[in-house]
Amino acid sequence: MSDIFNKLEKIVSEKYISKDIYVRHAYSRNVDIVLQGVPDIVIRPKDTQEISEILKVANEENITVIPRGAGICEFGGSKPIGDNGIILDMKRMDNIVNLNEENLVVTVEAGISWAKLNEYLCHFGLYTGSMGPGSGMTASIGGGISHHSVGGGGCAKYGACTNQLVSLEVVLPTGEIIETGSQANKYSKFPFNRFGNGPDLAGLFCGDNGIFGVKTKVSLQIFPKPEFAEYKTFQLPRKEREVSAKILNEIRQRGIDVYDAMYIMDLIVRLTANEGYMPIWSQLKKKRGLIFYTIEANTEVELDEKVKLLDNIMEANKSEDLGTEISNGNIAKWHYEEQGHWQFYHNLWGIFPTMQPLTAECFSPINQYPKILDDIDQWDMEHDQDMRKIFEWLVIVLLPGVDQ
Ligand SMILES: Cc1cc2nc3c(=O)[nH]c(=O)nc-3n(C[C@H](O)[C@H](O)[C@H](O)COP(=O)(O)OP(=O)(O)OC[C@H]3O[C@@H](n4cnc5c(N)ncnc54)[C@H](O)[C@@H]3O)c2cc1C
Repeated sequence: MSDIFNKLEKIVSEKYISKDIYVRHAYSRNVDIVLQGVPDIVIRPKDTQEISEILKVANEENITVIPRGAGICEFGGSKPIGDNGIILDMKRMDNIVNLNEENLVVTVEAGISWAKLNEYLCHFGLYTGSMGPGSGMTASIGGGISHHSVGGGGCAKYGACTNQLVSLEVVLPTGEIIETGSQANKYSKFPFNRFGNGPDLAGLFCGDNGIFGVKTKVSLQIFPKPEFAEYKTFQLPRKEREVSAKILNEIRQRGIDVYDAMYIMDLIVRLTANEGYMPIWSQLKKKRGLIFYTIEANTEVELDEKVKLLDNIMEANKSEDLGTEISNGNIAKWHYEEQGHWQFYHNLWGIFPTMQPLTAECFSPINQYPKILDDIDQWDMEHDQDMRKIFEWLVIVLLPGVDQ
């Protein structure tokens, strides 16, 4: 291993490589606290060329390379499984490469966070539309594209962040550097189109968890941020699961382009209010499920029309408006105006830190989720004793000293 270390050190310099035990341990976990293995080497490249050289060495020596953005993957993707491998920390590569305001495309290095990119774009009245994952304050664009991330705001209108992908620069495991989309054409002067040059090569690297190569540059479509927005939160009536699904489907069937819409189940409202994670809900008399929407528009008239349509749907479904202010419990305002879209899940995850490795995200058709949630309740009841044991074990083993 020391031979390999020396070869890699020549590529990035002594300052950006480590085999120190405390550094390796710092990179042995993701956001979760489960230790599955410690890497042999941690390396922090500065550019595509260095990554290409690193992958050539790793390929020759048959060593695993694990790309890592912010390392907040919930499923173990950016940490080693078993004591081996090289962690490739992408966070030094966080520059804006080019903003093409005319064609509305931005090119960035893959280690940049969603927050840093959007902070830059807002000075031009622009944004990424879909704001990546709920962890976007630190999560990287490269991690988001490798995960098809969705949920950090704007996904009802724009879809998963990979929908906005225009082109990628990727270093393959052999060290070869490739470009996708319009950039695969050597005569193209700037990235402008993902499709049209044969098969969708970029699609191969979307959601690949970094297995097919290291994304070094990402070009995304960007959008002018509409001047007007409204956001409201409603308390749902009984049978909240069915009602919320009905509301969300009615919004889609009426073709209303909500920016975000979310159902928050009663259990979450109760827990987050009681545990102090969402103080804005502690004053709600009934801790029932909530639903919120955010809608954007280019004129006030357009906004009023859309709000009227949405409020009619809410009223027809007996849902009660909580009021305009965040202090009224209007999480939608916090979500859109105060980067709540990048903080919401931190609050949820905070309730059960030890349960972090057990979380999962899944996609389902809207009309199926009430049934899926019922099935989960049923499963919980049937496995109540087992779940209690797992929880006790997690607290004892992973958080010694914390009361159960
Ligand atoms: C509080 C919280 C909220 C979250 N909310 C959401 C959410 O709403 N939606 C969602 O989808 N996820 C969510 N996540 C999960 C996760 O944060 C996201 O998927 C995020 O996009 C991961 O980005 P990252 O930079 O941390 O990636 P990492 O964890 O560093 O990596 C993720 C995967 O991508 C690979 N990878 C990273 N960078 C590159 C690269 N440049 N080239 C090739 N492969 C690479 C890694 O090897 C790994 O397999 C959340 C996590 C937390 C803790």
